[in-house]
Amino acid sequence: MTTPLPLLGDSATPPAAPIVPLAHLDDLWFQVGGTLCNLECKHCFISCSPHNHSFGFLGLESVRSALEASVPLGVKEYYFTGGEPFLNRDMVAILELTLQYGPATVLTNGTVFKDEWLERLRKAEAASPYSLEFRVSIDGFSSEENDPIRGPGTFERAMKGARQLVAHGFLPIITVARTRDDQDDAALFDGFVKVLKANGYPRPRLKILPTLRLGAEIERQRGYASDERVTPEMMAGFDEGLLICNHSRIVTDRGVFVCPILIEAPDARLGATLEGSLGPYALRHHACYTCYQYGTICSNASAGPREA
Ligand code: SF4
Ligand code: SF4
Repeated sequence: MTTPLPLLGDSATPPAAPIVPLAHLDDLWFQVGGTLCNLECKHCFISCSPHNHSFGFLGLESVRSALEASVPLGVKEYYFTGGEPFLNRDMVAILELTLQYGPATVLTNGTVFKDEWLERLRKAEAASPYSLEFRVSIDGFSSEENDPIRGPGTFERAMKGARQLVAHGFLPIITVARTRDDQDDAALFDGFVKVLKANGYPRPRLKILPTLRLGAEIERQRGYASDERVTPEMMAGFDEGLLICNHSRIVTDRGVFVCPILIEAPDARLGATLEGSLGPYALRHHACYTCYQYGTICSNASAGPREA
């Protein structure tokens, strides 16, 4: 179990933080894989690993209860994350169930798929009016770029996962963390497109993301500077809808939290139930600054930096 990190930063009395209301609960997230992962990436913002049991798996019945509770609240879409969701033995059944309620997206490292699971999911999606999306994390278009971050052999394993998805008729979104400040996004994009096409994915979908300076990323690069915060003045004219806390919540085995980024922050736990977690939230954490800068970092759309 990891020790929760001091997400607020070094200031004992943080300055006033802007309050963001929940406009409507459009998206419901599930920390379905807890903090357990078969990998131990050097930039993982919640330091997931094969040994991190800080958050546990969500079972099929817990997800079923939350799905039922989500219907009267008007939830439109469902997202699944971890840790690695496919380490959860209920994961395929959970996605099959979710496709009876709405569109589902699962965030995965793509390294543990079994063809029989993908076959079942292909059938579940075909029988559903809703879509099933896979987001597969790969952090460079070669082993040399990816493996120092995600671990030896992970590039080849994730590419195999992407090929498995394509072979089963899915069009995975490849999510790429911007692991260097001087990274050239255009070169990254072009390099990925070339490699993915060579792997049989003719029209690849890519999402380039900033890293969050939390968890393992603090040691790999750095944590947040004390002035990297969102202030009430910065929110003037800003579209709150770009922040997922404006339209989402996340269910974990320890209650409902404001967003997938802050599950280790005790003040981000809003309640035991969905209905009790619909209040506003103050953007007092440094990580909120990354959301402010990039927006949409948790959605399926691509995330680019805001103009200064
Ligand atoms: S970044 Fe994703 S794949 Fe890597 S350790 Fe964290 S949860 Fe696992
Ligand atoms: S980290 Fe991002 S999504 Fe979470 S509360 Fe802060 S701004 Fe909202």
